[in-house]
Amino acid sequence: MNVLLVHAHPEPGSLNGALRDFSIERLRDAGHAVQLSDLYAMNWKAVLDADDSTDRQAGARFHPELDSRHAFEHGTQSRDIELEQDKLRWADAVILQFPMWWFSMPAILKGWVERVYAYGFGYGVGEHSDRRWGDRYGEGTLAGKRAMLVVTAGGWESHYGPRGINGPMDDLLFPIQHGILYYPGFDVLPPFVVYRTGRIDEAGFAAVRDALGRRLDDLGKTAPIPFRPQNAGDYRIPDMTLRPDLAVDRVGFSIHVAQAADSSGACGAGPSRPTSS
Ligand code: FAD
Repeated sequence: MNVLLVHAHPEPGSLNGALRDFSIERLRDAGHAVQLSDLYAMNWKAVLDADDSTDRQAGARFHPELDSRHAFEHGTQSRDIELEQDKLRWADAVILQFPMWWFSMPAILKGWVERVYAYGFGYGVGEHSDRRWGDRYGEGTLAGKRAMLVVTAGGWESHYGPRGINGPMDDLLFPIQHGILYYPGFDVLPPFVVYRTGRIDEAGFAAVRDALGRRLDDLGKTAPIPFRPQNAGDYRIPDMTLRPDLAVDRVGFSIHVAQAADSSGACGAGPSRPTSS
């Protein structure tokens, strides 16, 4: 497979840096082709603004969505954006690797998503009508590709458990896994999460490395989280609500993951279980 690793940590000698190097080696040893987008090392521009297109008219009002669409359609996107889009087209699998900062991804990675997912590429794709609401949530530019998060967190696993003070990890990662990865079409694999990073010693690091290695070995065959596709009948169009006979009497993020008991949609194992070290 072609694998793109998008890495967001400012320190090459960090735990994340070590896991990045290990992942590249493991994947290449298994015969995969790997490209790395090391965002800090690239000095990636994190802010989306008028400089993201090359043909801006001086003084014209900047419209983030319409300017993005114009630049994407007319080949006037900033070169750094085009290069990342090319890497995504090339990839069969994409890994986003980052430390959890303030319960989400570092700003530089969020900025990568905002700028690379242009109008016409990451969103605004497909037919919008009373029958379809575009190609998204299981369809779209990146359909057929796999994606996985590799996340490190200072907090304990119990802090992120079903009754943990931080909220369940599945819920915290939902906007990334469902909103950022599933939206443009990725099949999203369960995340690999390393908890309590401050307590990792040599033996702990070896255990994390081995567990991550197994996940990388299975990158092509791990079952994705069975998020419900938008246009396959589970949702009512145009209000985009889940059919009342599915996930009856439940609300929240987890209703968008198909359950074995559902009468339609993909059947699966239920909400993902983060891999802990
Ligand atoms: P490092 O600090 O580089 O390493 C962690 C430990 O791993 C080291 O002490 C060392 O013992 C070991 N280690 C590192 N490299 C190796 C190696 N090569 N071999 C063996 N052992 C090694 N945490 C949360 O849970 N939730 C949050 O919302 C959150 N928000 C944060 C916001 C900010 C701005 C910051 C700075 C931190 C936040 N944290 C949060 C903590 C953060 O998630 C962790 O500090 C981070 O995940 C640790 O990853 P690192 O790569 O920086 O680890």
